[in-house]
Amino acid sequence: MPIHETKNSPKIRFGAGAVGEIGEEARRLAAQRALVVTDNGIVQAGHADKVTELLQQAGCQATCFTDVVENPTTATVDACVQAARDSGAQLLIGLGGGSSLDTAKGCNFLLTNGGRMQDYWGYGKATKPMLPLIAVPTTAGTGSECQSYALICDAQTHQKMACGDPKALPATAILDPELTLTQPHFVTACTGIDALAHAIESAVTLRRTPFSSIYSREAFRLLQENLTNVLTDPGNLHARGQVLLGAAYAGIAIENCMLGCAHSAANPLTARYGTVHGNAVGLLLPHAMRYNAEEPGALAIYAQLASESRLANRNDSERTAFEALHARVQELLAAVDLPLNLDALGVPAADISELATEAATQWTAQFNPRSIDTEGFENLYEAAHGAACSPAA
Ligand SMILES: [Zn+2]
Repeated sequence: MPIHETKNSPKIRFGAGAVGEIGEEARRLAAQRALVVTDNGIVQAGHADKVTELLQQAGCQATCFTDVVENPTTATVDACVQAARDSGAQLLIGLGGGSSLDTAKGCNFLLTNGGRMQDYWGYGKATKPMLPLIAVPTTAGTGSECQSYALICDAQTHQKMACGDPKALPATAILDPELTLTQPHFVTACTGIDALAHAIESAVTLRRTPFSSIYSREAFRLLQENLTNVLTDPGNLHARGQVLLGAAYAGIAIENCMLGCAHSAANPLTARYGTVHGNAVGLLLPHAMRYNAEEPGALAIYAQLASESRLANRNDSERTAFEALHARVQELLAAVDLPLNLDALGVPAADISELATEAATQWTAQFNPRSIDTEGFENLYEAAHGAACSPAA
């Protein structure tokens, strides 16, 4: 029997109003000066002022870096490092979506260990201690608050680099559903679908463990039960909380066992056409599931996800249960109202072969439960190209 180990998780504070405890967390981490890493939308929503005030009340001097952009680059990180140096920060706070959290983590690497972001591409390359980080997500999707990786694009090559280190893991994640109420509908949809894909892909990866499975399965349950509620009833704080928790659980699962081929195939779409990550992952997910369902271990897990969420009966065959899961994913995708095939995204069929070559080099591909090469990715993109709402095998 193989020996499994758990990866660390942050201390999590979850509940409506949880952000009110950020001052206490800053005190616990013995910080007198903090840099809040965020973007302009979060400033306009009033969240940055609120966090700054709470920190000041707790005796922690707070300054803000507000220049975070979507898919942050090495240039974004360099500017953030300068702001952190100027402020003499002893604590970093990532406030916002995955991009703010990634920027804060990227900043932490360079601020404490020097060099350039490229030096940390991979895992475990930082030798010196890093600053404590508090992650406060305002979207429910990436699960970055529970992960030790910063995803940063090389400003020159546009290559997305996953830079991870156990020391980059946030000390604390504050999950406050009230902060997610300000997300625009499109953001709720894209991040929610991304989280759903995290739960489903992490459930079946080759690195899955008995521990990661618990998080993947509970994440799937929370997300599939509540995703449509947050879209049709955006003020529903309970549903917002369940989706936020589901996204964080999926983040813990990824930290333990990585992702699969839907993410490998999604990244080239974002790099080439600027497709929003959750949209790219969502349109590929049903095709990736159908590809993976040919692998008996993955099929059994898909069937388990379906029966645990009562989408199928326990005595249904695994194939029947899988079809029920697949149909449910299609239903959730239809509810988010995003372009669901490559044609609708404006991706020409002629680009598929190059996209497949890029996808096959993505590191997540190696964790996919069924081995996949360039030809496999070509088939995946082709299935997703003209797909209507029900992709073919
Ligand atoms: Zn993702």
